Amino acid sequence: SGKFFVGGNWKCNGTKDSVSKLVSELNAATLESDVVTFVAPSTTGSLQTRRWLDHSLPDVVVAPPFIYIDQVKNSLTDRIELSAQNVWVGKGGAYTGEISAEQLVDIGCKWVILGHSERRNIIGEDDDFIGKKAAYALSQNVKVIACIGELLEEREAGKTFDVCFRQMKAYADNITNWTDVVIAYEPVWAIGTGKVASPEQAQEVHAAIRDWLKTNVSPDVASSIRIIYGGSVNAGNCADLAKKEDIDGFLVGGASLKGPDFATIVNSVT
Ligand code: 13P
Repeated sequence: SGKFFVGGNWKCNGTKDSVSKLVSELNAATLESDVVTFVAPSTTGSLQTRRWLDHSLPDVVVAPPFIYIDQVKNSLTDRIELSAQNVWVGKGGAYTGEISAEQLVDIGCKWVILGHSERRNIIGEDDDFIGKKAAYALSQNVKVIACIGELLEEREAGKTFDVCFRQMKAYADNITNWTDVVIAYEPVWAIGTGKVASPEQAQEVHAAIRDWLKTNVSPDVASSIRIIYGGSVNAGNCADLAKKEDIDGFLVGGASLKGPDFATIVNSVT
């Protein structure tokens, strides 16, 4: 569904120097499949053929810490768009320490990551607050990477779908137009642990999310929205994940801090 999407979440990492080095690596990389002129016979419309075409030029987005966004924007190839890792829930004003959606627009930052498990579980953001952030960001034309995902104990208790659907409902209660939304399924037990979900585990949840959207939002949104996977994705495991029907890209943490590895992940488009 849609173009392959790869996001790099740099989290709270980097210095001016390391950011500059990473930007140089990304500028030097070839960031798409070399197979860009695949012509489909006009009478066929097989899913495989469409995926090839749709995915040949993936969307690529990186999310530096706020204070480096402008530096990256001014030095990175236009081929890659910028994302923030968080945003304030409404219009700016007397909110010490916050950054508003209007300010993201002002510096040319087109995306924001919301609902990341680190913000849910370490900082304490709840479903409703995250849903409201998504609605406000979208109202200002900032596109949203909407994260969901279960904790290890929730998976072990058989609650994976319950948790993901509850988190999806909070987005759905607030979002009216899904055109500028990408869903990121990031099982918390896979984030930063080196324990990547198997392609089958990820596919199972992605398909369930798509099905939930079909029932609770609309068949159109369900079929067109990108559902990307995050959690210990690296240059070695991305290709098998990318082959799965409902995996439309990745949200990458650690491996996005290495330009060549990130490029390999972008190029895992199938
Ligand atoms: P890692 O790729 O480091 O596991 O992080 C994933 C993530 O949280 C991306 O948002």
